[in-house]
Amino acid sequence: MNRPARVAVIGVGILGASVGWNLSRQGAKVVFIDAGQPGEGVTNWSFSWVNAISKTARKSYFDLNVAGMAAYRELAGTIGPDSWWYPSGHLRWADEPAAEAKLLKTAELLAGWDYRVEVSTGAEVRRSLEPALTMPDEVPVVFYPDEAWVHGRHLVGRLVGHAVASGAELRTGTAVCDIGTGADGSIRTVALSDGSRLDVDMIVNAAGPRASHVAEFVARHLPVRQEPGVITRIGCTQVPVHRAVHAPHIEIRPDGDASVVLHSREIDALIDFGEDPAQLAWLPTAPSPPAGSPRWGQCPPCRATTRPSPTAAPRSGRQLADCLLRRSSAG
Ligand SMILES: Cc1cc2nc3c(=O)[nH]c(=O)nc-3n(C[C@H](O)[C@H](O)[C@H](O)COP(=O)(O)OP(=O)(O)OC[C@H]3O[C@@H](n4cnc5c(N)ncnc54)[C@H](O)[C@@H]3O)c2cc1C
Repeated sequence: MNRPARVAVIGVGILGASVGWNLSRQGAKVVFIDAGQPGEGVTNWSFSWVNAISKTARKSYFDLNVAGMAAYRELAGTIGPDSWWYPSGHLRWADEPAAEAKLLKTAELLAGWDYRVEVSTGAEVRRSLEPALTMPDEVPVVFYPDEAWVHGRHLVGRLVGHAVASGAELRTGTAVCDIGTGADGSIRTVALSDGSRLDVDMIVNAAGPRASHVAEFVARHLPVRQEPGVITRIGCTQVPVHRAVHAPHIEIRPDGDASVVLHSREIDALIDFGEDPAQLAWLPTAPSPPAGSPRWGQCPPCRATTRPSPTAAPRSGRQLADCLLRRSSAG
């Protein structure tokens, strides 16, 4: 293909923005399309903790997430870190012996994998890192200095802004409602709910929890497991914490200069969809491949699929863009 590939990025959350920015940097003609506003989907209702410590079930998956963390540092160097990148580390402790033993065992395992970890006490942490936290003086507290949190909406705005400045197009408030294909199955057009139709060569399905629905437009079955959660954002005149903190039962992190975000996996576990899942449709859901499917990989008939995790997004975005453009230049 001699002219630049025309790519429709459907959904402008953390994944769509990352793939689209990478495509645009490599010369593709990108149109970002979002049914709402960029970054205001699940990406805006996430704890957005960038880490590898919750990904230790397999060493290969852990390594993938460590690489994701490195890709963030690189991205911050490329586009600047302002207002979206907070590499302030992560603290956690437990309030009962079994959970504490598990916490320390994980810290030991990760230290053995060359992941930076520091163990101190509640009193030391209050003195040196987080004066406002309440925990027993002697409780062991684990600090992972290389972890971070990201302001997803700001990052999306930054990536899309860069792409648009170099020629990409942004369509917001309009949903993709159909995808036209040629006789050979190749992608030809996307139809939008505002009545317009765009000529494209490729699509990136980054519609988050709606990705299965978008895949149906090309008669593809894309299984997506929905994991709902509750995120609470509270305004405050003085933000009491400086980093992502996993206290017993609750997670807290800053969310800019005037609010904090709270999340509890224990509360998420109580969510019951009951007989009418639509009643809880307002809850953010983390889209994931079903159990047993690859988190990242070639997944025919798609060229590549990935779990759209904020930790992995910059790296996945780069790899997906490379993969798509390789295919397009191969004809
Ligand atoms: C409570 C909770 C806590 C989480 N905490 C973490 C965490 O700490 N760390 C971590 O790594 N992950 C976490 N996650 C997971 C993570 O936040 C999500 O997986 C990720 O943000 C999804 O990003 P996305 O870009 O795929 O989706 P989204 O941000 O939802 O973006 C999809 C976009 O597609 C648009 N769209 C949908 N349909 C169409 C259509 N037909 N046409 C056009 N546009 C369309 C939507 O408007 C939306 O803007 C958490 C998730 C939840 C729910």
